[in-house]
Amino acid sequence: MIPLSVPTLKGNEWKYVKECLDTGWVSSAGKFVDRFESDFCAFTGSRHAVACVNGTAALQVALRIVGVCAGDEVIVPTLTFIATVNAVTYLGAEPVFMDCDEFYNIDVRKTAEFLEQETEFRDGSTWSRVTGRRIAAIVPVHVFGNAARMSELVALCRERNIKVVEDSTESLGTVYCSGELDGKHTGTVGDMGCFSFNGNKIITTGGGGMIVTDVPEYAERARYLTTQAKDDEVRYVHNEVGYNFRLTNVQAAIGVAQLELLPEFLEAKRANYLAYQERIDRIDGLILAEGPAYARNNHWMYALQIDPAVYGKDREQLMEYLKGEGVQTRPVWYLNHLQVPFRDCRNYRIEKAFQLLEATLSIPCSANLSESDIDFVAERLRRG
Ligand SMILES: *Cc1c(COP(=O)(O)O)cnc(C)c1O
Repeated sequence: MIPLSVPTLKGNEWKYVKECLDTGWVSSAGKFVDRFESDFCAFTGSRHAVACVNGTAALQVALRIVGVCAGDEVIVPTLTFIATVNAVTYLGAEPVFMDCDEFYNIDVRKTAEFLEQETEFRDGSTWSRVTGRRIAAIVPVHVFGNAARMSELVALCRERNIKVVEDSTESLGTVYCSGELDGKHTGTVGDMGCFSFNGNKIITTGGGGMIVTDVPEYAERARYLTTQAKDDEVRYVHNEVGYNFRLTNVQAAIGVAQLELLPEFLEAKRANYLAYQERIDRIDGLILAEGPAYARNNHWMYALQIDPAVYGKDREQLMEYLKGEGVQTRPVWYLNHLQVPFRDCRNYRIEKAFQLLEATLSIPCSANLSESDIDFVAERLRRG
């Protein structure tokens, strides 16, 4: 079986974890936590980084820090992993679902149109004219590692005091390469950014996450809230309700080793993407989706797009066929505005997301994929 996405643990992971075990530093403090955070700042160019237990927790804490409260609304794309939306609801806020653009990312033009038509700016905040609720934040997701159109979005939100929390869980290594954001890493453009080190992401700590921000007060609050909001560490005085969301030193040790390998992973993912593309583009009815030209993509996930009328199989049929051939594939996530917990939430002109959901199948993308794996998958697609 060629799996969709598995980790590659071939660097200093053993050595660093052994060091944790040998020294007894296994819990939520230690030099690897500090080193993971500082190495992460160096790689992404963010001023501050706070390690936490997973990407979902990172999103929850970041949204709370930028001021999302119970009863607020938060704009989210309908096409994303449900964790993005769950993080909003953990705070008692309501998601408002937005359509996506051709790169699977939140549609910035429609977001602008929505803000224009359905909201008003009053007393320093943006309010929904329909529900009367405050629109406190937006969570653009850099889906599959494709960079969202952040420059337009940030300008739009700054004018209206809508905070921007980037869900960069899939985009570690994706950097803008043109315009005013040239050189900026995804996740470092909005008010705060969140990363994930789950087993299927480009680097992994087993489970883990990171909050990045250039605002020192936000970073300080992230540290405080993720460690049970201790105001006096010795006497256990707490002035707020915090969380036990810190990453352990053992996980951070794996993270430090994985971050050392990241440049190599990025190169392998890019080479594999190009190898797939060359083979797939010769097959009628199939294309490998391209990322936006304004960024250098991390190529975390490879999105195959199917035209069933030409290819002869639709997404479900192709997935079933490939499963029989030993190739694991996955459709994109079921649209969140249709999920049972969110059916009654508001959504705005969702069209493109339906098309991409129907057309897309993610194909094996692990960094350790061999050329013969790629040949095998491409050959099965050709015969399919
Ligand atoms: C992986 C992922 C998350 C959640 O990260 P965890 O570390 O698994 O909690 C959130 N959003 C998106 C888009 C993801 O892909």
